Amino acid sequence: MKFRDFEVIVIGLGAVGSATLYQLSKAGISVLGIDRFDPPHHKGSSHGETRITRLAVGESDTYVPMVKRSHEIWREIEAISGASILTECGGVLLDSGKTPWAKHGVKGFFKNTVTIAAQFGIAHQMMSSDELKKKYPLLQLEKEGAAYFEFAAGYLKPEIAIQSQINLAETNGAIVLRNSPVLQVKKRSDSKVQVELEGERVVADVVINCSGGWIKDFLSQTDRSKFKICRQILHWVKIDHEGWKDYPVFMWGHGPNPEDFIYGFPCLDGVSIKMATESFEAVDHPDQINREVTVEEQRRFWKEQVEPRFGGLKPEFLKSEVCFYTVSEDAKFFIQKNVDNEQEWMVSACSGHGFKHSAALGEYLADRILQRPPRFIL
Ligand SMILES: Cc1cc2nc3c(=O)[nH]c(=O)nc-3n(C[C@H](O)[C@H](O)[C@H](O)COP(=O)(O)OP(=O)(O)OC[C@H]3O[C@@H](n4cnc5c(N)ncnc54)[C@H](O)[C@@H]3O)c2cc1C
Repeated sequence: MKFRDFEVIVIGLGAVGSATLYQLSKAGISVLGIDRFDPPHHKGSSHGETRITRLAVGESDTYVPMVKRSHEIWREIEAISGASILTECGGVLLDSGKTPWAKHGVKGFFKNTVTIAAQFGIAHQMMSSDELKKKYPLLQLEKEGAAYFEFAAGYLKPEIAIQSQINLAETNGAIVLRNSPVLQVKKRSDSKVQVELEGERVVADVVINCSGGWIKDFLSQTDRSKFKICRQILHWVKIDHEGWKDYPVFMWGHGPNPEDFIYGFPCLDGVSIKMATESFEAVDHPDQINREVTVEEQRRFWKEQVEPRFGGLKPEFLKSEVCFYTVSEDAKFFIQKNVDNEQEWMVSACSGHGFKHSAALGEYLADRILQRPPRFIL
């Protein structure tokens, strides 16, 4: 039996997979991208109109070269495609000044961000609570609080980024299979890798598995237990102050628990701002996520997160949507060759902070596969 044969197959065309497919297609090799749905879609981890990006990545200084490179790549993609992906509207990190708080596995996240900004010469401004309130009166930071403002921070448009990279990859000659769930990946005796779909088999020299939370379907029992699938709710809260249109993105840590945290975006639709907290309650698999948001969940979000901290908003929701994080044990990214198959890479941009890095992560993976010198160390 003759199978369609490629140099590389990319499984999953979300944030990481679409970037990887695009970067490989630029090298002119034969590459196939496969997704179980029709990306960009609303069932994975990359939807909801916006994602924050920031250069002083408080999660680790290792990530700074990667996010800087991502900003360059987004600009390259914008120039080629005409799409608008990155808006550097500025970003403010607020610290309520109570207990030092952790984020994405890092204790003292606020202090770490400031240290990393200084270390890498990232343009920023520190503000006292009074200074912040003068500039952004709708952010009602506690008296003892402090703020870090970064000029090049802002937001990305995830659906547009994914669509643009898939479109460009197809223009470069990549083949894309949509609505085609991969059922199994097998090592063959001729050292190729076989990918089984419903009604078809394809083969490649190398497979890169970027299936996000569904990576668990391809891991051993021991490895799959290392990932938590955590439901997240995004809310679009109605505004009653025009000023929200000119606000930066914001992230605000206000207590010791991971859920003592809220982040959000400027008003982009004229009527609401997108805001969310984080939740680390886990289910075993993406298919088990409850996709409905209740009125009680909206009410609690307003009472606990929004009302005590923000002006210029109404206790009314334009809409709420569910997304999910895939959280690893150390909240870092998971990039590994399959122990049973050297030709299969398992990649997941994990733990709720991967989008801003995805463009450069795709290039990094292409560099590794094509044996080009690395542009940064991971
Ligand atoms: C609510 C929320 C807010 C976030 N905020 C930020 C932020 O502000 N800044 C930031 O940098 N990051 C943020 N993140 C994190 C970031 O969005 C994710 O890390 C990133 O989008 C994950 O991308 P991915 O490619 O790993 O997964 P996905 O984008 O989910 O892609 C996985 C793809 O694999 C496909 N797939 C799965 N199984 C199969 C199969 N068997 N066969 C074929 N295809 C398959 C899926 O259909 C999907 O398209 C946030 C995440 C969430 C959920």
